[in-house]
Amino acid sequence: MRAWVVDAPGPMKGKPLKLVERDPPLPAAGEVRVRVNVCGVCRTDLHLAEGDLAARRPRVVPGHEIVGRVDMLGGGASRFQVGDRVGIAWLRRTCGVCRFCQRGDENLCLQPRFTGWDDDGGYADSAVVDERYAYSLPDGFDDETAAPLLCAGIIGYRALRRSEVRPGGRLGVYGFGASAHIAAQIAMWEGAIVHVFTRSPDAQRLALDLGAASAGGASDLPPEPLDAAILFAPVGDLVPIALGALDRGGTLAVAGIHLTDVPPLSYERHLFEERTLTSVTANTRRDGVALLDIAARAGLRVVTTTYPFEEADRALGDLAADHVNGAAVIRVHF
Ligand SMILES: [Zn+2]
Ligand SMILES: [Zn+2]
Repeated sequence: MRAWVVDAPGPMKGKPLKLVERDPPLPAAGEVRVRVNVCGVCRTDLHLAEGDLAARRPRVVPGHEIVGRVDMLGGGASRFQVGDRVGIAWLRRTCGVCRFCQRGDENLCLQPRFTGWDDDGGYADSAVVDERYAYSLPDGFDDETAAPLLCAGIIGYRALRRSEVRPGGRLGVYGFGASAHIAAQIAMWEGAIVHVFTRSPDAQRLALDLGAASAGGASDLPPEPLDAAILFAPVGDLVPIALGALDRGGTLAVAGIHLTDVPPLSYERHLFEERTLTSVTANTRRDGVALLDIAARAGLRVVTTTYPFEEADRALGDLAADHVNGAAVIRVHF
């Protein structure tokens, strides 16, 4: 099969990804194999390709927003049938026995495995997954619009919950890419007033189109104090800016897996008056199921830019250059 691998991590202009030919994977016991139709492009793939996120395995196949159809069942696998449309996401295995798994916080598992980092992902013709970690996908989304739900959507949803914004609350969204444009729509559907901050004029337009109350530059002041904020841009310099925009008692949730260094914070200006700074780490399967359910009920509009499989590296290059509006996806099979 065809597969893109992270060959030599470094800036995208040095072409860190390489297209290779490999044997297709065979599903182990309890696993299913999926013929990949579409794989979404996540900023984490870019961090991995560029070396911001250390490789956990040489020449790994990136991609963890996989939509395709089951084409082979491993021994004992019975949850899906051959031909079923399923999704494979970032969280692909947890230990089930550590103190975090035991208390229902499997996103904090001490021995997790992640798709496209520990094990091969979906920038390839086929991928395998433990059937317990695969998702059924809502019918209202075609393959292209379903793919970004699987990481951008799920992580955006968890970030929204971590921000603790209430219905009617004022939410700031810093950065407006794949994850943010989904989380913002959920927040608005639940009654929040959303203010968006991004340097991209196209993203500002998209935000207003989707119903944001305002859309300004990346470090602009909001038109009103914020009850909550989510930082999607991987830019540590924005942490004090977003904290400074919070009203008393407000929470800032940092959504990314990688952030440039956070400059020194002032206790009085940034944290006092019970402001909270928190992070978002992966997700539970419960988050995934909840997001897919809300996506269907809220009628989310997922904006995508599609790239042919052969141009996966161009998709990542465009993401690095902030040239993607909404979510980039790679079309592997029709
Ligand atoms: Zn665990
Ligand atoms: Zn991701």
